[in-house]
Amino acid sequence: MAKQRAGNSPGTARTGVKGPGKKAAEPERIISGDPHPEDETLDLSLRPRRLSDFVGQAPVKDNLSIGIQAAKMRGDPLDHVIIYGPPGLGKTTLAHIIGHEMGVNVKVTSGPAIERAGDMAAILTGLQTGDVLFIDEIHRLNRVVEEVLYSAMEDFFLSWMVGKGLAARSINLRINSFTLVGATTRFSLISAPLRDRFGSVFRLDYYDHADMEVVVRRSSAILSLDADDEGIREVSSRARGTPRIANRLLKRARDYALVQADNRVTGPVARQALDLLRVDRLGLDQSDHRLLITIIDKFGGGPVGLDTLAASLSEDADTIMEVWEPYLLQLGFLERTSRGRVATPLAHQYLGRPWGEKPAPPTDQGRFAGL
Ligand code: ADP
Repeated sequence: MAKQRAGNSPGTARTGVKGPGKKAAEPERIISGDPHPEDETLDLSLRPRRLSDFVGQAPVKDNLSIGIQAAKMRGDPLDHVIIYGPPGLGKTTLAHIIGHEMGVNVKVTSGPAIERAGDMAAILTGLQTGDVLFIDEIHRLNRVVEEVLYSAMEDFFLSWMVGKGLAARSINLRINSFTLVGATTRFSLISAPLRDRFGSVFRLDYYDHADMEVVVRRSSAILSLDADDEGIREVSSRARGTPRIANRLLKRARDYALVQADNRVTGPVARQALDLLRVDRLGLDQSDHRLLITIIDKFGGGPVGLDTLAASLSEDADTIMEVWEPYLLQLGFLERTSRGRVATPLAHQYLGRPWGEKPAPPTDQGRFAGL
């Protein structure tokens, strides 16, 4: 299949990232897209099973639908697929949907879980014809493991070395055809040889308001929740364009409604529940506010370099870049410029700060005043 690319091109990787794509997660933030332990059962019950149930992301869905139909008509497995985008947008869900639509099993693993070439070989030889192998965080595969994948993906052939020194020998093995679905939040960290072996590359974007409402409405129907339109809107507008966060907030609003409000998620009830969690009307929490206010109040709105900003917030620079910033960029509250981070006029307006007022530069007079 010709290479398809849905959506925009990937962002650039920051040089000097610690380790091969260190996962920067903040599990305690209610508005984090990364899975929390509490999401496990919810994710399973609310996860769409068919492509037609998968809300939004039309370019990805349309291309996948054609690819799946064509593969079925030819009687071949689907071409290898890579799906990238921020956490919680549906990468794992799509991998399971592909398996379901193709009528095959899905074997799930992740980059950091496969340590040795032999582990990878064991997984690959265990696949049945047409199966989907889903590798989450595929950018974190180590090179030795990755090299086993190359011939497996291209020719369904395994070739790897076992033993060391004089006892070393190579093992060559034919395996069943399969579809590799790779997921990543850091597309640019995937090596070029691996990237080139995927037939399709799909990017998931944050969901717009209309799609988020459909996600929340669907989830509340599955949970048999008594929620009105305003309640649905309130939850969806605070979920940062991320279905996983929407489901988590909905669950919290449901708990609040049960305890405080006759078990009905109305607009005011959802507002109270989410205010209590300190998630504001755009889905920003205290960390987001702190970041923007620091840029505005301490650095005159920017530009300020990422490392200076990180030091000022006592946070890890990678965490800021990977976890905090993407949604603020999406909202248009933050800009990344060659000279550093800038808080936009929109951010000033939202936080009630005047735009364009820079702190007075230090003068010589001030500098020497104490002498
Ligand atoms: P990712 O793998 O990108 O981190 P998941 O696929 O695990 O995200 O999605 C998290 C949860 O969000 C899923 O369990 C599902 O309930 C919900 N979800 C994700 N995408 C959609 C969608 N397009 N429509 C409806 N629900 C979705």
